[in-house]
Amino acid sequence: MRIVIEDVLTVTMNDRNEIDTLTIIIEGEKISALARSSEKQTYNKRNDDCIISGKNRLAIPGLINGHIHSDITLARGLGDGLTLYEQDNDSFVSRKKWFHIELDREARYYSKLLQYAEALKGGTTFICDVPFWHYGDDLLSPFINTGIKGAVVLDYRKDFQTGALIEENEYFDTADKLRKNGFIPIVEGPAEEGFDRELLRMLKARADELDTFIQMHLAETIWRIKIIKEKFGRTSIRFLHEEEFLTTRVIGSHGVYIDDEELTILKDAGARIINCPTAEMKIADGIAPVTKFFEHSIPTGIGTDGALWNDSADMFSEMKNLMLLQRVTNGASSLDAGSCLYSATMGGAKVFGLEKELGSIETGKRACIVLIDYKKPHLVPLYHGKLSNILQIITSCVRASDVDTVVVDGKVVVENDKLNTIDENQLVRKCQEMGVKRFGNFH
Ligand SMILES: [Zn+2]
Repeated sequence: MRIVIEDVLTVTMNDRNEIDTLTIIIEGEKISALARSSEKQTYNKRNDDCIISGKNRLAIPGLINGHIHSDITLARGLGDGLTLYEQDNDSFVSRKKWFHIELDREARYYSKLLQYAEALKGGTTFICDVPFWHYGDDLLSPFINTGIKGAVVLDYRKDFQTGALIEENEYFDTADKLRKNGFIPIVEGPAEEGFDRELLRMLKARADELDTFIQMHLAETIWRIKIIKEKFGRTSIRFLHEEEFLTTRVIGSHGVYIDDEELTILKDAGARIINCPTAEMKIADGIAPVTKFFEHSIPTGIGTDGALWNDSADMFSEMKNLMLLQRVTNGASSLDAGSCLYSATMGGAKVFGLEKELGSIETGKRACIVLIDYKKPHLVPLYHGKLSNILQIITSCVRASDVDTVVVDGKVVVENDKLNTIDENQLVRKCQEMGVKRFGNFH
């Protein structure tokens, strides 16, 4: 059976940045054809086609959330008013406590379900998750149960709090299982305070063996840059470059403190960046040189980061915050709405080496499509003709809650604002109960 989205105003994000009214035909996991309503192109209807009306809807490619820590979603709203350093070293959310007692295995599992459910309902179809605790099957089942796709960053530590290492066999078995189920295993690299030549060599070899990426929190804060300068006498990017660690495999998260010479190093190495502007504002990390990432053609995506650092996984507000934060220091014309949508779609796809599969609505690509109901007071007037305001409306006005249909690899996972894969009411009830029980009386 095919899914046919009829006559929908579509922001394709193809390399010609086409916006047009299309009929999108989906067969299996892929987009099999696009018919242009504007040119009266038709398609051969079949009796068993599943028709989705495009009336009053806007279609965009599934969003790619490039950085999230989903196993602490139950900590939403906590740790507020603190920098990352203060959270880590001098607060009740510090690593020493780190919700270790409150967030048991069951709570972490539901944290993930909650995060993925929120992400899907807000139009995210691919998520790169960075867990703090490693439980083999628990990494995979929330993906499969909710229907979201993505990558999992595998820490070399079994447990973020104690620092105990994962057995190598278990590590590779988990990576293998993820890959066999269609997910990307990614090697976790240390943040600056964990830099160690031997560890970096081991992780690089591990990524080579798995033929995959290495994700690391890179140049996020001044205190981390200070640590690396004191330890090795140079900044993290220069150090990694001299150690021959920086390659096309490296995905640096945040990338706030990067100077012009380092931008050239990153570009020449082919490294990639995931920026998280909301988190970087909330915990006062600073402002990343995102416009320069674009100027240097460094593949750049965006992520919402985890609950402690953003509270929300709304990729539309992430796009808006990316745009506004850059304009604060670089001027009103420094970053346009289209570039922000690009970073949440094709930019993210490029970061994860998936530009041939995801990031745009094109024939032959995986059918990851988001429909937005735009007949609402905060989204009209919306038009595309002599003038077009569509990209600005998407970046500045659309909210996650305006998404009403989400197709992931040809499956309708969100329909009329409801998840088809899991019982959303039950999940919300369970997480509310768990949150109150675990944190409601916490001092
Ligand atoms: Zn992070």
